[in-house]
Formats: sequence, C-alpha cells, structure tokens
Amino acid sequence: MQLFDLSGRVAVITGGNGGIGLGMAKGMAAAGATIVVAGRDAAKNTAAVNEILSGGGKASAIPVDVLQEQSCRALVADTMKSHGRLDILVNNAGMSIRKQPEDYTLAEWHTVLDSNLTSAFLCSQAAYPAMKKGGAGKIINIGSMMSIFGAPFATAYAASKGGMVQMTKSLATAWAKDGIQVNAILPGWIDTALTRRAREQVDGLHESVLKRTPAARWGVPDDFAGIAVFLAAPASDFVTGAAIAVDGGYSSLA
Ligand code: NDP
Repeated sequence: MQLFDLSGRVAVITGGNGGIGLGMAKGMAAAGATIVVAGRDAAKNTAAVNEILSGGGKASAIPVDVLQEQSCRALVADTMKSHGRLDILVNNAGMSIRKQPEDYTLAEWHTVLDSNLTSAFLCSQAAYPAMKKGGAGKIINIGSMMSIFGAPFATAYAASKGGMVQMTKSLATAWAKDGIQVNAILPGWIDTALTRRAREQVDGLHESVLKRTPAARWGVPDDFAGIAVFLAAPASDFVTGAAIAVDGGYSSLA
C-alpha cells in the first residue's frame, strides 16, 4: 500500500541501536526504508544493523554522540555523503539521571537536557537543508509520559521531554511550508534498558506501572513499529505538530 510505503526513503534514527529506537527501525525497514542506525556504542550499532539485515531490511551505522554539536552535524553530512538523501529523522536518543531536584548538579541538569532536547534541535537543524531541498521530510521526536506528567525523580528529564513537545510544535509551524512534518511520540512505560535501570532505582515502579496502565502490561519496542511507519509515510502528510501517546491508555486514566 503506497500510503505506508517507505521504499527509497532514508531514515536516520538516533539511539537506533536498541530499545524503542530499534523497534522503530525494524518497522521502517520492513516498510522499505534504508535505515541509518546512529548510536554511540559500536557493538550495539553493529548488532542492530545485523538484526535489521537478517530481517531482510537495509541498514548501516554511523556512530554519533548527540551530546556533541559537531557529531550531530557530521551524522547528517555523512548520511548525505553515503546515501545522497535524508527523508526521515527520528530524534530518539535519550537518558535520565534519577535524583531528587535538590540533589542535582548543574552539570547533570545540562547532561539530561543536552542529551534529550538540545540534541533533537541540533539534528533537526542539521537535517533541514537536505529535507527542504528534497521538498519533503519527516521528523519524529520521542517524548514521554513525562512530557505530560511529573515525577520527583525526573525534574530534568520531564523538563527535556516537555520541551520536546513544544519544540515539535514550533518546528512543525516553521517548516510546514517546506513540506516537512514534525511530530512527537509519547511512549508509556516500555521494557528497555532505560526502564530496567529505573526499576532497579525506583521502589515499586514495576507494580505501579502495571496497575496504572489500562492495557495491564509494559510496552515493548515492537509496539513502536506501526506509529513510526505512519509518521514517516505519506499516510501522515497532513499530520504535523502532533504529540501521539503510545501508552496502553496510561495517559487517559484519571
Ligand atoms: P535505551 O536506553 O534502550 O535507548 C536509549 C538510546 O539512546 C540508546 O540507543 C543510546 O545509545 C542512545 N543515546 C543516549 N545518549 C546518547 C548520546 N549521547 N549519543 C548517542 N546516542 C545516545 O532506552 P529506550 O529505548 O527506552 O529510550 C529511547 C527513547 O525513548 C529515549 O528518548 C527515552 O527517553 C524515550 N522513552 C522511553 C520510555 C520507556 O519506558 N522505555 C518511556 C518514554 C520515553 P548508546 O547505548 O549507543 O549510547
């Protein structure tokens, strides 16, 4: 179906080497996109590329540290050098430092904000000229339930993810004229390396997520394949500035 066909498209996914990023990468690869896995960890990058290739998809890796401005810009430049185009950018790389706000150092605050929010701005800014030249583009930003809610251990993370939604809306309004759609996905609680660490650090988290999620389960990375394809494909050409929860109903429960 052409509405959901990504053949010939090139998709860069920051943090595409594991977790939610890899779930989205595999979905887009199955829809025909060529995937650029962009993570820091070389072994994880290679494993992710191999997983996509063994599923019949097309993929390669470009190492990136999204905390470095030059690395974000080089990611886009290297993609253009290797593939000659960039159609889809997924700003998915992210991390958290779980602490009470009074215990945060300024350096820790900046690490979280820069990893999650500033990186997405830099990669989007770097991608813009190529997308504008091509007359089309899709940018997908990964928010969180912390884009909507707060938590005592997540001040910097929630600030970054709330900012991600507002940045998404602003980029959407700025670049709609260029045929570029910018949307956000707000994942609920998903079983990945990130939340395995959270479950070790936050007492009762596992049980409270199960209790509060109407679908009565944690999400899995494969739950993001469909929404990623939709937001990357012609099916979403009039959808821009949206923030779509993929959360098993978590954010709908009073
Ligand atoms: P993972 O820890 O599995 O993935 C995080 C990814 O970000 C890794 O691939 C990691 O790559 C990459 N990353 C982190 N810092 C950098 C950096 N400086 N440069 C390059 N890559 C970096 O966790 P998730 O899959 O859960 O997280 C993916 C996104 O989803 C994040 O933005 C997270 O905030 C968001 N999210 C997750 C939820 C969940 O419940 N799991 C809920 C809501 C949002 P590497 O290992 O190579 O550094």
